[in-house]
Amino acid sequence: MRPSILFPVFAGIQTLSGVGPKLEKLMARVLGTATPRLVDLAFDLPVGVIDRSYQPLLKDAEPGRIATVTVNVLEHLPPRVKAQPYKVRVSDDSAMMELVFFRADAEYLNQLLPQGSKRVISGRIEKFKDRLQMAHPDHVADEAASLPKHEPVYALTEGLAGKSMGKAVRGALAKMPAMPEWQDTAFLKQRGFSQFNAALEKAHAPEHDADLDPQTVSRKRLAYDELLANQLALLLIRGHMRRARGRAIRGSGKLKAKVIAALPFALTDAQLGALVEIEQDMTAPKRMLRLLQGDVGSGKTIVAFLALLAAVEAGLQGALMAPTELLVRQHLSSLAACAAAAGIRMEALTGRERGPGRAATLARLVAGEIDILIGTHALFTEDVVFRDLGLAVVDEQHRFGVHQRMLLQGKGVTDVLVMTATPIPRTLALTAYGDMDVSRILGRPPGRKPVETRAMVAARLDDLIAHLRRALDQGARAYWVCPLVEESEKSDMAAAEERAAMLKKILGGKVGLMHGRMKAPERDAAMADFKSGKTQILVATTVIEVGVDVPEATIMVVEHAERFGLAQLHQLRGRVGRGSGKSSCLLVYHGSLTATAKARIETMRQTDDGFVIAEQDLKLRGPGEMLGRRQSGMEEFRLADPAAHGELLDVAHDDARLVLARDPDLKSPRGDALRVLLYLFGRDEAARYLRTG
Ligand code: ADP
Ligand code: MG
Repeated sequence: MRPSILFPVFAGIQTLSGVGPKLEKLMARVLGTATPRLVDLAFDLPVGVIDRSYQPLLKDAEPGRIATVTVNVLEHLPPRVKAQPYKVRVSDDSAMMELVFFRADAEYLNQLLPQGSKRVISGRIEKFKDRLQMAHPDHVADEAASLPKHEPVYALTEGLAGKSMGKAVRGALAKMPAMPEWQDTAFLKQRGFSQFNAALEKAHAPEHDADLDPQTVSRKRLAYDELLANQLALLLIRGHMRRARGRAIRGSGKLKAKVIAALPFALTDAQLGALVEIEQDMTAPKRMLRLLQGDVGSGKTIVAFLALLAAVEAGLQGALMAPTELLVRQHLSSLAACAAAAGIRMEALTGRERGPGRAATLARLVAGEIDILIGTHALFTEDVVFRDLGLAVVDEQHRFGVHQRMLLQGKGVTDVLVMTATPIPRTLALTAYGDMDVSRILGRPPGRKPVETRAMVAARLDDLIAHLRRALDQGARAYWVCPLVEESEKSDMAAAEERAAMLKKILGGKVGLMHGRMKAPERDAAMADFKSGKTQILVATTVIEVGVDVPEATIMVVEHAERFGLAQLHQLRGRVGRGSGKSSCLLVYHGSLTATAKARIETMRQTDDGFVIAEQDLKLRGPGEMLGRRQSGMEEFRLADPAAHGELLDVAHDDARLVLARDPDLKSPRGDALRVLLYLFGRDEAARYLRTG
C-alpha cells in the first residue's frame, strides 16, 4: 500500500484552487497522463526561464525584450469597433507606451489598471510605427517586489496559459510533504546533492538557461532518485520471478537433429553458442529471462525455433510472438520446412483469425494438438489457453514492454526469451531490464557482403530510376520505402500508392504495393508476388521495417530518409544484403537537411555495426523514441534522461543491488524511506513484491 505520507501528492489536480475540469484536461495533455496527480505537476520540470530583471526606462527599452517597467496609467481607449483591440496608454517620465488587449473585458481592465494609478508591468515590449507597445502584459502589480524576477516556463498546449500552468505547479509543490531521506548520506555529501524537496524546489526555480541543464546538481539529484527507484523496481520484479518456481525443460535433441540435418546451411558458431546458453537456462530449474541480441540478418529466428523445439521435445508447447501480422505470416512460411522436418504441428494466431477457425485453433491449443503457436499480441488475449506452455519467445522485443511480459507469465510460462535486432545500448538495457541475461550473436552468416549505402537528393530521382531500370533488367529485386508522413500531410498510404503508380508508368508491370491499411490477404499476396519474383519492385510503407526476409532483394530505396530515425534506417537497410548478391541502400532526402538528419545519414554511410548505430541513435534521439516508448508501454522517465545521466544509471544499478543484498525487504530505516521512493515514482507493482510484517 502507498505510504500515507504520499496521499496528498497523489491527489487529483482538481484539488488545486483554480483548476477545474477544463484546465485538468489541458494539463492532462501536457503531462501525458489521463488522470494527472499533483506529483505529475511537481515532476514537470521547466523547459525555459523568463528573466524579468531587465527594468529599463521606457525611452531606453529595447524592443523584443521582456521588460519590467513602472508606469502611470494615463487613459483607457476602448475600441470603437468590436474587432479592434482595447488600449491603455501608460507612461513613465521618459516615454509613453500602449498596452494592447484583444477581446478585452473593459470592467476587468478598469479594475486592473485604474486611470491615474501607478503600476508595475512586465511583458514583451514591441515597437509599432514608432510607438512602444506591449500586448497582454504577463504581469500587472502594485509594486515591483511582488513580481517574480525569474519565472520558470513550462511546456504548454493550445489553450493552456503559462500563468495557469505556473500557478498549478507552484500549488503542487506547496503540497509536497517533507520527504524522508532515502539516499545514502555519504553519497549525497560526496556529490554535493541537497535534500529531495530542496532539489525539487531548485529545479523549478531556474534563473538562467544554464539552470535547465540536466547536469545541474538539483536535476542530477532528482534524476538519481528516479533511476534508483527504477533499478530497485526491476530488481524486485526480477527477484520475484526468480523465486517463483521454474522448471527444468530438457529436450531429447531428436527433433533438433532432424531439423539441423534438413537446413540448407550450417549454423554458425555464434548461433550454436547462443543456443547452448539458452538450452542451459532451460535445463536449469530456475526461470529463464534471457535477451537474444543479434544484428539484423544475424539469424536469430532459427535459433529461437530450435529452442522452441527443445520445449516440444520435452512434451511442452512453445509460443513465438512477433510484433506484426506480416511477420507472423513470414515466420510461419519460413519455418514451415523446419516444422515439417521435425514432424511437429505449428499454427498462427493473429487478429485475422476469427470465428469458428479461431475457436478450433484454441481448442487444439488447449488439447495440446498444437506444438508451436506463432502470433501477434492476439496471444495475450484471455481465452488463449495452452495445455502446457514451456517457452515463449518474443521477437523484435523493442515493441513489447514490461507489462506484456507480465501478461505472458500469466499464461503459465516459466521461460521467456526475448530477441532484439535493434541492439540496445547497455545504459538503455539497464533501465529497461535491470540485469537480464544476454546472449549475443555476433557477426552474420558467412558469405554476406556489406551493403553499399549512398545518400542522394530527391532532385536526382530520374537518375535513380534509370539505375533501377538497368538493375531490374538484370533480374534484381528492390524495395522502395515511402516516407513516414507528418501530420497534416497526405497519408503514407496515399504517398505509396502515388509512387507505385508513377514507377509502374515508367518501369512497366513489375511493381507491387504494400501498406498497413491493406487487408491481410492482399498484403500476403503482395509479399508472395515479391518473394516469387512476379513483382520486382515492392513499394511499401514502413510495414516492412522489421524482420521481412527476401534474400533475393538487393536494393533498398528509402524516400524522405531524413524523416527516419537511425534505428529504423538500420532496420530497413537490413532487409537487403541477405543473399549472396551485392546490395545497395539509397537514402533519398528531400529539401535541405537538418544537422541531425545529416549526422544520421553520415552514420549510416560510415558503419553497418548495429551497436555503433544504436549508441549514436540514443545520442541523436533520446531513449524514449528509440525504444518505441508509446508502443511498448515502457515506463517513462520524468526526471532522468538515460542519455544524459548514463553515469548515474550505473551507480544506481550498483546501489540498488547493494541495498537489496543487505535489506531484501526494505525494512531498515533507509529501507522505509526507499519504499516511499518506489511509490513516489509509481513503481507500485514492484513494491508489492516486498514482504511485509
Ligand atoms: P534476424 O536475426 O534478423 O531475425 P533471420 O533469422 O531472419 O535474421 O535470418 C536472416 C536470413 O539468414 C534468413 O534467410 C535465414 O534463413 C538465413 N540464415 C540464418 N542462419 C544462417 C546461416 N547459419 N547461414 C546462412 N544463412 C542463414
Ligand atoms: Mg527476425
